[in-house]
Amino acid sequence: MEFSKLASVYQKLERISSRLEMTSIVSGFLDEVPDDELPEVIMFLQGRVFPPWSEKELGIGNRLMIKAISRMSGLPEERIEDRIRERGDTGLAAEELLVNKTQTTLFLEKLTLQKISSNLNKLAGLMGKGAQDRKISYIHELLSFATPLEIRYLVRLILEELRLGVGRGVVRDAIAKAFRVDAVLVDRAYSLTSDMGEVARVAKREGNTGLKQAEMRTGIPVEVMLAQKANSIEDALEKFSPAAFEIKYDGARIQIHKEGNRIFLFTRRLENVTNQFPEIAEYARDQIGAKSAIVEGEVVAIESRANRRPRPFQDLSRRIKRKYNIKEMVEKIPVEVNLFDAIYLDGRSRIGLEFMKRRKLLEKIVSRTEFFRISDEIVTSDPGEAGEFYQHALKMGHEGVMAKNLDAPYQPGSRVGYMYKIKPIMETLDLVLVGATWGEGRRAKWLASYLLAVIDPDSGRLLTIGRMGTGFTDEEFKDMTELLKDNVLEQVGKEVKLKPSVVVEVAYEEIQRSPTYESGYALRFPRLVRIREDKGINDADTLTRVEEILESIKG
Ligand code: AMP
Repeated sequence: MEFSKLASVYQKLERISSRLEMTSIVSGFLDEVPDDELPEVIMFLQGRVFPPWSEKELGIGNRLMIKAISRMSGLPEERIEDRIRERGDTGLAAEELLVNKTQTTLFLEKLTLQKISSNLNKLAGLMGKGAQDRKISYIHELLSFATPLEIRYLVRLILEELRLGVGRGVVRDAIAKAFRVDAVLVDRAYSLTSDMGEVARVAKREGNTGLKQAEMRTGIPVEVMLAQKANSIEDALEKFSPAAFEIKYDGARIQIHKEGNRIFLFTRRLENVTNQFPEIAEYARDQIGAKSAIVEGEVVAIESRANRRPRPFQDLSRRIKRKYNIKEMVEKIPVEVNLFDAIYLDGRSRIGLEFMKRRKLLEKIVSRTEFFRISDEIVTSDPGEAGEFYQHALKMGHEGVMAKNLDAPYQPGSRVGYMYKIKPIMETLDLVLVGATWGEGRRAKWLASYLLAVIDPDSGRLLTIGRMGTGFTDEEFKDMTELLKDNVLEQVGKEVKLKPSVVVEVAYEEIQRSPTYESGYALRFPRLVRIREDKGINDADTLTRVEEILESIKG
C-alpha cells in the first residue's frame, strides 16, 4: 500500500479531536486495507513501528534525523535546527525544507508501507561501527521517495512523535466497526496476544469466531491483571472472605515466559527486558520445572544479597533502563523476584483456573531459592490476623499487602476486582505520646501500646487521635519503655498517663472520624516511623493539619 493513503488519514486525524470521529475515520480506512497489510497499518496508525515487546527498537533521535535532512537538502545542520525551533516540530520543518528536493523524484517511485517497514527493520538491527551512517542512509532513502506531506508524517513516525491520539480504545472500536465484530472480543484477543494488527486480521477473516479462539503463547506478553484499591483489611474482607493476603512488594511487575531453554521477561507495560535481567533469566531457566510456562511476580531491587532489604524504586528503574554494561549493574543493584501467579503451563493457558489452583501450580513448578521466591501469603478471614500480617509487611519495608480472591480467574488487562491493594497513606504525622499501657505476658514489663495526640491549634491542648502498638520488635518496646518510664504521671490499672515530651513520626493507613478520641478522629493502623528527637511537643502536628490531609485525600 502507498504511504500517501496513510498520510492523508494522518492529516484528517490531525484536524480532529473527537474520539467518535477518529474511530469513524480509522474504521473507514481499515475497510480498504488489504489483509496482509493490516498489521503494519494498525501499528503505524498508533504511531509505532514495532510493538513495545519487540526486542527491536528504533531509537532515532533528532540529531540523526537532522543529519538525514541535511544530507538530502544540502543545508547545514544549524539551518535545519533553526527551522525546527521556529516550527516547534521536526516533521513540519522537514516538509518545508525538502519541498524542492522531492519534486524531482515525485514521479519516480511511490513510497510504500513495505518499503518503510523494510528500511526501518534493517535500521533497527544496526549496531557498532558505521551504524550511524547506514541509519542515515536508510532514512535518506525513504525521505527521497516521499512527497512533502508524506515527509511530515514519515519524520514524525520515525521519531515516534506522531501523537495523533489513536490509542488502543480507538483502534479497538474501529476494528469492531469495520469488521462488524464484538469490541469486547477484540479487547480480549488483544489482551492475550498483544498484537492489534494480528487481531484486526483475524477479525476481518474469521469474525467473532476467530477472535474467540485467540490464545496466549510464550514469547508474546499477556496484558497483566490489575488491582483495585481497598481502604482497609476489613474493606477487602467484605469483598471476599477468606482471602489470600500477600505481601505487596515494592518493585516492578515482571512476566516470565519459559519455552524450553528460552526465557523472555516483560514489564507490565509489555516491554521486553530480557537483556536487562540476565540473572532472572537464569533463575527461571533453572528453577521453573516446566517445558513451557508463563509466571508473574514482582522484581525488587535489594540493598545486598545478604540483607535483602528493598531499595527505592528508582534503583530498579536504573536496571530496567540500562542497555549496556549489564554485568556491572547486576552486581551494583542486586534484585530478587517474588512470584505470585502462574497463567500458562505446558502448552495450555490456565487463566480460567481459580487463583488458589494457579498458586498451587506455581508452588509445584518453582523450586525456590533466596532470590527467586514465591510471595509470602496467608489465607484468612480474620481481620486481626490479616492486620498483623499487614503490619509485618510494612515493618519489613514493603508497600502493604494484596488481598486476593481465592476463587477468581485471571482476567488479563483489567481491573476487575479479583485483587485489592492495601497500603498506608504515605504522609506521616508528628504526634505527641500522652499515654501508654503496660503489656501482657511476656511484654508485662514494657509499655506496649502508646496513646498519640495532636495539638489543638486554638487552645494549644493535646487531643488524642489513636493508639499505636503493633509492629514493634522486643528491642523497640524496651527502648520506648526506657525512654518513657520517667515521664509516667499517674497509673490506673495498666494505663499510664505520660508527661507529654516525646514526639514520634507516625505512618498510618487511614484517618477516620471517631468518637473514641478527643480529636474526633482516629488513625488506623498507626506505626512508628521514628522518634523525632529533634522536635519538642510544640512542633508536633495540629488538628488543622490532620483535617487538611483528610481533605486532600477526599479531593
Ligand atoms: P499498583 O501498582 O499500586 O496498582 O499495585 C499493583 C501492583 O503491585 C501489581 O501490578 C504488581 O506489580 C505489584 N505487586 C507487588 N506484590 C504483589 C503481589 N504479591 N501480588 C500481586 N501484585 C503485586
